[in-house]
Amino acid sequence: MNPAGHWLERTAELELDGTELRRLIQLATERVVRFVDMLPSQPAADVGGGAELARSLVEALPEHGTSFAALLDLLFDRVVPKGFNTAGPGYLAYIPGGGLLQAAVADYLGDAVNRYVGVWAAAPGMVQLEANVIRWFGEIVGYPPGAAGFLTSGGSLANFGAIVTARHHLLGEQFLRGTVYASDQTHRSVEKAAALAGVPAANIRVVPSDDRFRIQLPALEERIQADARAGFQPFLIVGNAGTTNTGAVDDLDALADLAGRERLWLHMDAAYGGFFMLTERGRRVMHGLARADSVTLDPHKALFLPYGTGSLLVRDGERLRRAHALTAEYLPAMQDTQDLVDFCQVSPELSRPPRGLRVWLPLKLHGAAAFRRALDEKLDLAAWATGELHALEPAIEVAAEPQLSTVAFRLRRPGMDPETLNRLNRAFLERINARNRVHLTGTMLGDRFVLRICVVSFRTHRDRMEMCLEDIRAAMRELPSE
Ligand SMILES: *Cc1c(COP(=O)(O)O)cnc(C)c1O
Repeated sequence: MNPAGHWLERTAELELDGTELRRLIQLATERVVRFVDMLPSQPAADVGGGAELARSLVEALPEHGTSFAALLDLLFDRVVPKGFNTAGPGYLAYIPGGGLLQAAVADYLGDAVNRYVGVWAAAPGMVQLEANVIRWFGEIVGYPPGAAGFLTSGGSLANFGAIVTARHHLLGEQFLRGTVYASDQTHRSVEKAAALAGVPAANIRVVPSDDRFRIQLPALEERIQADARAGFQPFLIVGNAGTTNTGAVDDLDALADLAGRERLWLHMDAAYGGFFMLTERGRRVMHGLARADSVTLDPHKALFLPYGTGSLLVRDGERLRRAHALTAEYLPAMQDTQDLVDFCQVSPELSRPPRGLRVWLPLKLHGAAAFRRALDEKLDLAAWATGELHALEPAIEVAAEPQLSTVAFRLRRPGMDPETLNRLNRAFLERINARNRVHLTGTMLGDRFVLRICVVSFRTHRDRMEMCLEDIRAAMRELPSE
């Protein structure tokens, strides 16, 4: 107590009353609605002057408050526009997602009620909604009821969870001779996850891919057997159901056969491709996905959610539990029935956001059918764009036909040396992006630089794809044809 006796003073200024909350939400909502209305007419990217902007935002801890209206202006006028317009319909770079507003509303609700979903006892209902989401994902993949899983912040941590679980199940605590196999098209998060999981960097085997960018099975099998003969302990194959480069899907049934014969864990990185299992075409391309021991799915890609939602599913849920279960005196009793889950027992986190709600709300509001139709539209758009690119042959070469919704292409110049051709294609990419109606990115396929169109955003429709092809044709005309 201070001499003035002020310790009983009530400080309630952080507690908004109903009027203040409504005002806050209303102002925010107006800005969001305006932002979304403007998306189609906004540049696909605004990348100049990023460093100046970042440095101009540096400030000391504010001692006093600022009006919300002024902060919204700062955010929407200065902070948000700079960079890639990842929410817009022209974002065809990397792997888009879009960010469903329904999920933003779910986050608002979830954060407002601030329930604790790390342990079942603290929020049995909220935990069950998230368990339903995991169950639905299992159904989408084709997993049996004994599967388990959890929501992560993204695919990187889902891949990490898979490697930890495989390592724990097959190698226990002596894992330094364990080796991991993945194709040269595998996302770098796998290598990083393996390193974080304690796999020595020298034990990660990069297996070549074929002319459609799928892992070469004979090379994989030979390498596994050679390692075993040399005293290593092969334990994990990471396959791809939709590579980031070209959307390539490995021969999943053949991978599952091989993993079964060699008694290895098969993890499928389906961060990008997985939700296309909602569509008939996707199920055809990814036949065999359900035979994998574990699967990474990124709802913030092909389920269109805002960034910050990935997931890991494990076919035999007990294995996931054994790799993660832990109790503590300061926690409530854990559930030991089959049907109720304490997420802290099957995942690395304890306190965390209620991620289930942002998946649950959009799926409940619209039903899976709406997502299936949207994904079918993306497949159609990628196929349409590919047809248009073929029509530009021989000046254009389609380097990878879409297996899902990504197509890779480049300018072709017979006789041009490879370095010069790569430079020309980089200039081609810059010309397309300079029109600022679409934003594409490139990648290296072996030593060839290629451009890619990746259609995943729920806001991308036929009109934007037509703009994309117009801008490709215009950029072609600007570049020397020899
Ligand atoms: C995006 C992606 C990842 C990484 O996921 P994050 O959500 O960005 O952490 C891993 N694998 C593939 C195939 C991806 O497309």
